[in-house]
Amino acid sequence: MNQVVIIGGGIAGLICSYLLSRAGLSVLVIEKNQYPFHRVCGEYVSNEVKPFLERTGLYPEDFDPAQIKNFMLTSVSGKMATATLDMGGFGISRYRFDEFLYKKSEKAGTRFLLKNQVKEIKKTAEGFEVLLGNGEKVGCTMVIGAHGKRSTIDKSMNRGFISKRTGYLGVKYHIKTDFPGDSIALHNFEGGYCGISKVENETYNLCYLGQREHLRRFGNVKEMERQVLFKNPFLKPIFENSNFLFTDPIVINEFSFDKKEVVENDVPMIGDAAGLITPLCGNGMAMAIHSAKILAEMIILNKDDLATNRSKILSEYERKWNKLFSFRLSLGRMVQNLFGSKRSSNFAVNLMKRSPFITRKIIENTHGEFIE
Ligand SMILES: Cc1cc2nc3c(=O)[nH]c(=O)nc-3n(C[C@H](O)[C@H](O)[C@H](O)COP(=O)(O)OP(=O)(O)OC[C@H]3O[C@@H](n4cnc5c(N)ncnc54)[C@H](O)[C@@H]3O)c2cc1C
Repeated sequence: MNQVVIIGGGIAGLICSYLLSRAGLSVLVIEKNQYPFHRVCGEYVSNEVKPFLERTGLYPEDFDPAQIKNFMLTSVSGKMATATLDMGGFGISRYRFDEFLYKKSEKAGTRFLLKNQVKEIKKTAEGFEVLLGNGEKVGCTMVIGAHGKRSTIDKSMNRGFISKRTGYLGVKYHIKTDFPGDSIALHNFEGGYCGISKVENETYNLCYLGQREHLRRFGNVKEMERQVLFKNPFLKPIFENSNFLFTDPIVINEFSFDKKEVVENDVPMIGDAAGLITPLCGNGMAMAIHSAKILAEMIILNKDDLATNRSKILSEYERKWNKLFSFRLSLGRMVQNLFGSKRSSNFAVNLMKRSPFITRKIIENTHGEFIE
């Protein structure tokens, strides 16, 4: 029987599986896609996790990630403020980063079931039974939920947030464009905001959070962009003068920033499955990595008798998760209210211009300390 089954091979699942396998545990990751693949994400990784990635050999040095240290914010009507990012970050596409982590984890001993979806988790006398879409069943002592923002597994577990409609829409492109490689910009538009920053290979990520209602009203993504995003004078030229590398954008919808349970039916959640921070904070991936790290460390400490120590691991993980991330998520939700409307985004730009100290404090508090 597997000691640990991880549902989902995104950033959280891959980091957790790597650490556990390296410590000698038997780990199976079940992922519904096949690497490499594109995902909706701004692809800016906060440097808070860089020391940890370097120490564990998981920093994707060979791809020469962009080094980002400047921030630009524009309001719906095109007012602009700039700041230096104390911590900064690096840019790498999820296409490359996830595949890189997958190979590292596989080399460390993790087994992968790709193109397989988990439909249900059942408790058994020995631990858990995981039911797959193809009808197979997999037994294990411990299951970890690393299935991201929203999944069929959330429905089968009857998780609180899943029945609520949120109306959010996420859209991503890769483009070749003229923009400083060491900067990240967040451009507001009515109902959302659009980020641009460099990844590897002289390519830029253009990714936005918008409203499904706008898509419904304007019929398709292109028309919605023309009618809504182009009103910001910074966004129009980016869309009109860049070379778009995908035939169609990558689109997701209905994700929730609401509070989630960190442990559900004895299944610990990591990454977005435990809670999604608003994308404007630019550290969802760092939180996914950090939560994977703290859970892996607790499991490794108790690896000789996982079944007996399970409840201790779960309660300690939940306590630590709340201490590290609860406040950040609430602050992220509050800051998001300063985005996506003419008045509030002008207020945010003015705040950044007039009170660099407050701006710095907000950025600091939505991020963590450097993680070793
Ligand atoms: C618009 C937008 C922009 C963002 N920009 C940034 C940014 O610039 N920087 C940043 O740090 N964060 C950003 N984020 C957040 C970031 O993308 C996430 O926090 C991060 O991807 C979380 O990683 P994860 O491993 O938890 O989930 P994911 O990366 O989503 O991985 C979950 C995996 O689980 C798999 N899966 C799901 N259900 C099942 C199932 N039932 N069976 C098998 N497999 C399953 C999925 O296929 C997926 O591969 C952004 C988010 C959005 C919405």
